[in-house]
Amino acid sequence: MSCVEPRPTANLPRAPEPIPAGRRNGAAVKREAVTPGPLHLPGASPVAPLMRSPEYVQISTAAAITLGVVGGRMHRCGCTRCLNLLLTYPEGCRANCAYCGLARHREARRDYADRNFIRVDWPSLRLDDIIERVATAGSKTPFHRMCISMITHPRAEADTFEVLQRWTARIPQSVVPVSILSNPTTMTGADVTRLADLGAEIFTVALDAATPDIFERTRGKGVGSPHSWTKYWEILADAARIFGPGRFGAHIIVGMGETEQDVMELVQRLVDLGGHSHMFCFYPERGSLMDHLPATPRDQWRRVQLARYLVDYRGVRVEQMRFDDYGRIAEFGIPADELDAIVAEGIAFRTSGCPGKERPDVSACDRPYGDSPPSDVASYPFQPGSVDLKRIRHQLGRARAGERYEPGEDLEVDDARASREDQR
Ligand code: SF4
Repeated sequence: MSCVEPRPTANLPRAPEPIPAGRRNGAAVKREAVTPGPLHLPGASPVAPLMRSPEYVQISTAAAITLGVVGGRMHRCGCTRCLNLLLTYPEGCRANCAYCGLARHREARRDYADRNFIRVDWPSLRLDDIIERVATAGSKTPFHRMCISMITHPRAEADTFEVLQRWTARIPQSVVPVSILSNPTTMTGADVTRLADLGAEIFTVALDAATPDIFERTRGKGVGSPHSWTKYWEILADAARIFGPGRFGAHIIVGMGETEQDVMELVQRLVDLGGHSHMFCFYPERGSLMDHLPATPRDQWRRVQLARYLVDYRGVRVEQMRFDDYGRIAEFGIPADELDAIVAEGIAFRTSGCPGKERPDVSACDRPYGDSPPSDVASYPFQPGSVDLKRIRHQLGRARAGERYEPGEDLEVDDARASREDQR
């Protein structure tokens, strides 16, 4: 057991700065009304062009590199396997979640299309150009999954239906299946049914907060945001009923003040409903209302990653685990040699999310460095190698006899070699 003390439970967001009237609701973008071209790179112009979904969507920098629309290279990743299509509007997301780079309060300084999100820039492109590129690649596409990422906006449902229809008209689910990252606040059960009928394979709900209190504090009334824990669970229940077992999931961010036991009880609740949990390590996103807070300590994160994998994929139940007085995982509920074998496989420490084409417990959603810098990887976007596993064991307090980890060893792994391994 680590001697690191649990982090304080009150990880309070800072207060947002006032938003000048001339910048509210995308006013600057609408006033300038710059005609968009085929590609907008965040920060490339003084005011973002006037772009709206469904004609335009945003994609992560990793996806833009993989699609070949921008240059660049990702540390130890040949490409990303997941193409997230993030809805975009001049008004942006009307919610104000404290940990999120897309939150409403950021309109004080940045146009929506220019905001960083999960640590990276999100270029904007024409939806039809993206679909054309993926359709042309056919079965050779590097993408294992596409995910339509909704935001809180009055047009979000209608445009999600439209994006899904345009995609499935050109790209068979057998080539690139579709997930929906939903926005429950503005959705009904009928919307969930329609998405299933239109061909979405998996439906996910970004609960993000592990408890109702943290939800309220980080994405509810505490920050002037419209979301409610109850409504999110209503839509999750709809997803369980309409999409069925193994075809729905929930996002959870670890390290916003909850205990490890809180997270694991939530993970078990989701599994008992027939779903999966998709874990993110809290990272203080630049410009967010939680950018002054520390990232989740790695020992805490590794324990939760490992325990979640055991519950989601190895049939272990939270009741078999033991927690200490601080709610930290003290025992994982299986014999030490079995646990060491699972740690050595490394899969538990990869990004978690909707499955790709490799195997059911390997996520397509690899989000390279979305929750940490490459120098201190939280969720591995590739199969951890021997030096990574040494670091992981060190962080878990499970180093092998005589094993020593030198900080930075994993950073010296040759990118080209790692990239070749990633392609296999
Ligand atoms: S609803 Fe989603 S995109 Fe909007 S601020 Fe909250 S987390 Fe960010």
